[in-house]
Amino acid sequence: MKNEPTAQQTRDIKVIAGFTEVWCAGQQHTSRQQHTLLQGMPPLLLCPDCAAFLDYAAKKRMNCPLDAEKPTCRRCRIHCYAPQQRALVKQIMAWSGKRMILRGRLDYLWHYFF
Ligand SMILES: [Zn+2]
Repeated sequence: MKNEPTAQQTRDIKVIAGFTEVWCAGQQHTSRQQHTLLQGMPPLLLCPDCAAFLDYAAKKRMNCPLDAEKPTCRRCRIHCYAPQQRALVKQIMAWSGKRMILRGRLDYLWHYFF
């Protein structure tokens, strides 16, 4: 990625990365490899499809024109996605969100998605 992400961009990208990693592992995707999304961020273990999706999501977040005023990703982030990725992110958020609730990670969800 060319531009340095802002703190908020980094935070949001880490959130979607966390959801995607939970999804990828939980769905037992194969050929998972270490994938470095942002510099300074620990590598994620992702299959090629999830890595490609996450790159797409991160790029969208980096290019989001509503940065300063954007309240939560639920309200607007997904609306700039192409239909296919949009369907996928909804699936990932719903599935991984449920997992995180089961693991007591409500704080995480609460903050960003409700
Ligand atoms: Zn995957």
